[in-house]
Amino acid sequence: MKKDTRLLHAGRHPEKFDGAVNPPVYHASTILHASVAAMEKSGKTPFEGVRYGRFGTPTTFALEEAVAELEGGQRCVATCSGLAAITGALMACLKAGDHLLMTDTTYFPTRKFCDSVLAGLGIETTYYDPLVGAGIAALIRPNTRVVFTESPGSLTFEVQDIPAIAAAAHAQGALVMMDNTWGALTFQPFTKGVDISIQAATKYIVGHADAMLGTITTIDPDLWLKIKSSVAAFGHCAGTEEMYLGLRGLRTLPVRLRHHAATALRLTRWLESRPEVERVLYPALENDPGHALWRRDFSGACGLFGVILKPAAKDAVDCMLDGYSHFKLGFSWGGFESLVIPTSGHSIIRTATTWAPTGPSLRFHTGLEDADDLLADLERGFERLTCAA
Ligand SMILES: *Cc1c(COP(=O)(O)O)cnc(C)c1O
Repeated sequence: MKKDTRLLHAGRHPEKFDGAVNPPVYHASTILHASVAAMEKSGKTPFEGVRYGRFGTPTTFALEEAVAELEGGQRCVATCSGLAAITGALMACLKAGDHLLMTDTTYFPTRKFCDSVLAGLGIETTYYDPLVGAGIAALIRPNTRVVFTESPGSLTFEVQDIPAIAAAAHAQGALVMMDNTWGALTFQPFTKGVDISIQAATKYIVGHADAMLGTITTIDPDLWLKIKSSVAAFGHCAGTEEMYLGLRGLRTLPVRLRHHAATALRLTRWLESRPEVERVLYPALENDPGHALWRRDFSGACGLFGVILKPAAKDAVDCMLDGYSHFKLGFSWGGFESLVIPTSGHSIIRTATTWAPTGPSLRFHTGLEDADDLLADLERGFERLTCAA
């Protein structure tokens, strides 16, 4: 079976639920046991079977099974947000005295977690150039436990050479984690050397801007148990309605992603030709510096990209953004609606590399609107930019 077909079936067991196509939403804390013996038996394997709401219900297991299939992994742990998946994975694999290599282009709250919580626990973070490739070997210390990757990079969209980084990390005994939210389905992490793949399921898996959800997927069952135990020790678990929304979104993920990507490609090609635009940051474009690696490692793209404008006054850019009809101002992405945020000023923090674009920068997400409507919206936006100047 091809991936699209497998994703329709993944985690679904209609025969267990009276033939219902979708798994029921279990609202459960207490799970009743038939006898003391059954209760005692379930306590010996707390993460298998249904024992207590926090450890998971059939709704949880359905989502985890489906996401493991999506990522091409073996098992998954669902969490209450994408950030909780990142922090949960890091907390499971790091202890005082350990060293973490973190990509300089990581999602900003990940950086904040490293610099505050991990630093406070005596776990040192070194930020590295996302384009380091095999050169990561020189940065790995005897106590480096984790090399964290995110590709393409948050807001600036650099594509990392994950296989090269993974080979170097494994040669020195470090684990490779990846924030694979952009790659959702088009980057299969475990064929590229990643040990732990994380998604902010809030974005494309949920896909409708109506739930917070995260996933941590592994290919190694021992690693899964380590992460599951740690996440459970903190008492974290995902909400049942949210997991259901994740499951529902996942069924249409391939078709939505193809649409998001086709629209983004059309818009980015047009943007590249505009006199107001200095550079478009989207690896699916032939001119993008990450294009060759993207072609090699990804099977497609999505609707998220960046734009650097030619120098323009803040007022003019604000006027352009405020007046859009379809590109709404809002954080997050992956939903059906188009979004935009300004990313200039203090939004982009880099410490191992420099990021100094000559003009204002923006991040767009193309939703599922008709591409002609979106293009017209962008075109009218440029009129506001030049009028205000
Ligand atoms: C949004 C996002 C996260 C965090 O996900 P939440 O569900 O909002 O906590 C993590 N990584 C990336 C790349 C994201 O875009």
